[in-house]
Amino acid sequence: MTIEPVVELRNLSRTFDTEPPVYALRAVDLVVQRGEWVAIVGPSGSGKSTLLNVLGLLDRPTEGSYFLDGFDVGSLSDGKRASLRGRRIGFVFQSFHLLAYRSAVENVMLAETYRGEARAGRRERAVAALELVGLGHRLDFRPTKLSGGERQRVAIARALVGEPSLLLADEPTGNLDTTNTESILELFADLHRAGITVITITHDHEVARHAARTVRITDGVLTESATAVAPSMGVSL
Ligand code: ADP
Ligand code: MG
Repeated sequence: MTIEPVVELRNLSRTFDTEPPVYALRAVDLVVQRGEWVAIVGPSGSGKSTLLNVLGLLDRPTEGSYFLDGFDVGSLSDGKRASLRGRRIGFVFQSFHLLAYRSAVENVMLAETYRGEARAGRRERAVAALELVGLGHRLDFRPTKLSGGERQRVAIARALVGEPSLLLADEPTGNLDTTNTESILELFADLHRAGITVITITHDHEVARHAARTVRITDGVLTESATAVAPSMGVSL
């Protein structure tokens, strides 16, 4: 049996049909294996959100193919894509999008309500997800009683509760101070060690530095940074 990569993009482009057209993604190739943590880093306007929208099945490419867990998602109807998105992708955003008048555990449980998951065990699954992100002691706290880092942990628990194939995070530390940023990056590292496949998208090189693999995006073009290549002998610069 061959093991499918979680994500495989082949020669994928996304052009916005404006005047003049915007080539937001240009012939992108990207393979993400199960359990990898990939940081995609690039300046504002480089195509990060466009890439995230395509990866998250919120947008379709103009050209090329996208295989998610081996499924060619380009050929699927909008309805099939929506159900695949619900079951296989967890989203984390810069702003946490939590309901202010619901407790942490209720916020996580609501993710399943929207997906129409079986009711049985819903609370237990939400508690388990909150424990996974280190918030087992904050189950009944409302977001207003939580720090920024804790709020983002609730949002991450909500993204993880369905055990998605892929956790997609767009600027997950963009609203956090240095201390909370560190703690959320440690959490991503823990999730990565636990075998969860994570793609973080960020303009911040410091944030990207924590990931095992960094991919740069510039004007819609992806380039992989060389990973720790040993300097060749006898060459001095
Ligand atoms: P980033 O997230 O890296 O800041 P985006 O992916 O949002 O970049 O945008 C990449 C490029 O595509 C930008 O030039 C942006 O203006 C353009 N763009 C994004 N969405 C649209 C759209 N719906 N219509 C036209 N142009 C767009
Ligand atoms: Mg963006």
